Amino acid sequence: MFAQRFFRPATALRSHVRRYATEPSNGGNIGTSAAIGVAMLAAAGYGGYYYKSMKSRKVGHESEAAGMPASKNEEKNIPAKPEDAGVKPMMAFKGGDQGFISLVLESVEEINHNTKKFRFHLPEEDSVSGLHVASALITKHKGPEMEKPVIRPYTPVSDEDTKSYIDLLVKKYPDGPMSEHLHSMNPGQRLDFKGPIPKYPWEANKHEHIALIAGGTGITPMYQLARAIFKNPEDKTKVTLVYGNLTEQDILLKKEFEELENTYPQRFRAFYVLDHPPEGWQHGSGYITKDLLKTVLPEPKEVNFKAFVCGPAPMYKAISGVKKSPSDQGELGGILKELGYSKEQVYKF
Ligand SMILES: Cc1cc2nc3c(=O)[nH]c(=O)nc-3n(C[C@H](O)[C@H](O)[C@H](O)COP(=O)(O)OP(=O)(O)OC[C@H]3O[C@@H](n4cnc5c(N)ncnc54)[C@H](O)[C@@H]3O)c2cc1C
Repeated sequence: MFAQRFFRPATALRSHVRRYATEPSNGGNIGTSAAIGVAMLAAAGYGGYYYKSMKSRKVGHESEAAGMPASKNEEKNIPAKPEDAGVKPMMAFKGGDQGFISLVLESVEEINHNTKKFRFHLPEEDSVSGLHVASALITKHKGPEMEKPVIRPYTPVSDEDTKSYIDLLVKKYPDGPMSEHLHSMNPGQRLDFKGPIPKYPWEANKHEHIALIAGGTGITPMYQLARAIFKNPEDKTKVTLVYGNLTEQDILLKKEFEELENTYPQRFRAFYVLDHPPEGWQHGSGYITKDLLKTVLPEPKEVNFKAFVCGPAPMYKAISGVKKSPSDQGELGGILKELGYSKEQVYKF
């Protein structure tokens, strides 16, 4: 259905609407795909499964099971690390009444003219964040001249299985109290975090096809969802990303999404729309329009479909209608309503 449905007539869009390929769009770079596939299997815990199945053969020490001499720890009967023994790693964010925890900023990487990646160290070595998909964290900061603390949500771009740290990708907004504070931070300083803040609980194959409609830093919850879907070999969900930005430099995580597009050409497609496109730009220009969404998304009743929306307030208004509060999705409005989708088919982050 994906390939057929992709071409609804929309003359203005033909130049940047491309068919879902049957082969990787990098010219069949099987090597890259295979390497990513192996990496994904490892990330999904298959390496661990292999390791455990070797252990279950009970050949003396674990190293002996792998055909190597027993290590000093094994000879002294020092227990294996928890994950080696099949124990789940510790979770830094536990929810409930845990409250805020203070994390140390480990490093800062400049991504573009207004966005930086911040790596925060988790309190326990070898612990994971404890975030599930989809969920976020909230940050809290109170400067010396502030009456009340500022609290803002962020979705880490590091994988949920990553140990010892989380990465935030944060764009600096003029006069934005939290983003300005983050951009002024130096390694060694601390910030308060709380979570996980549950969003949309994802399960493999919950929907046949999803749309990720994002603007600016609204891409981070979308990346969390896409990562979870494509690293799970059981999950066959088709994903269409429609991502709007001002300029080409503002497109975040482009390399990561290109990798998905090359590895899963039949299940993942990305459409980029720019307010100020460079010369020769092959994708869309202007805003995310009704024509574009009509062209690239399935019909409302065609499949089990869900659209996820995240971005600046004017984008919500135009695409889906605004969200009333963190716990109230508000009425469906905008382009998605005009195209006939139901309120239940749309989730606003
Ligand atoms: C679930 C969720 C996850 C988020 N994840 C991230 C993330 O990973 N990285 C990140 O940088 N931000 C993310 N945000 C946005 C973030 O929470 C803050 O709103 C943002 O950092 C601005 O905060 P501020 O205090 O600096 O400025 P504010 O005073 O809140 O806003 C300053 C100006 O920026 C505008 N603005 C705020 N947010 C956005 C936006 N997302 N797009 C365009 N304009 C905006 C406001 O309308 C205002 O004009 C997320 C938001 C949500 C709801």
